[in-house]
Amino acid sequence: MLPVLYNKLAHYLQSFLHLFYPHICLECGTDVLLSHNVLCNDCEKNLPYTDLFKIENNLVEKIFWGRCKLSAAGAGLFFTKESVVQTLLFEIKYKQNKKAGWLLGRIIGTSIQGLDRFKNMDLLIPIPLTPKKLRQRGLNQSMIICEGILQVLPHLKIAAILKKIKNTSSQTNKDRIQRGEQMQSLFELENANEISGAHLLLIDDVLTTGATLEAACTCLWQAQPHSISIAAAAYTL
Ligand SMILES: [Zn+2]
Repeated sequence: MLPVLYNKLAHYLQSFLHLFYPHICLECGTDVLLSHNVLCNDCEKNLPYTDLFKIENNLVEKIFWGRCKLSAAGAGLFFTKESVVQTLLFEIKYKQNKKAGWLLGRIIGTSIQGLDRFKNMDLLIPIPLTPKKLRQRGLNQSMIICEGILQVLPHLKIAAILKKIKNTSSQTNKDRIQRGEQMQSLFELENANEISGAHLLLIDDVLTTGATLEAACTCLWQAQPHSISIAAAAYTL
């Protein structure tokens, strides 16, 4: 009886709040969705999941072959332009919509939960923004995605030990070697001791060429962690 009563009360409370704070699915516009979410159940179910985390030598891992040593890598969703995945990423980056980031994090969390390849993880390392960009944006999307992963895997910890020292933009005029050199000095470590000997899971929002993640990996290896793996919310085909 009690759970029924509780559900009814929760339902009334949600309807009441809805009058003042309209809350609709970002994809289809229905108002039938839980207050902590940004998509309704159907739209969440229909997201373009990759299923890559469970596959050894998957296409995301191949991007990093010969570039940096990784235990495992994958991405939760396929990214395409003008898709709901793009909307979710836009919401978190430019509208400070943390719920969109938490959803992306929960998608990573549920995808890697119970997988042997990811079972030893200790620390989540968010790809940082430069301090200037963080001030402009108000939040770091990778940090919010990490928080979403913790909602599913609460035994993990976030270690924000990477510091971004310059922006990756305005490199178009540089040749490949110059760009490569620039990428190598993109990050610094704040506290190397914290990650030494640990199993790290490096977290980013979108994976395209892998250049940023490669630079972050190279920087992290200086602190001698036990292993490094990568999880991105979305992968651009
Ligand atoms: Zn929907």
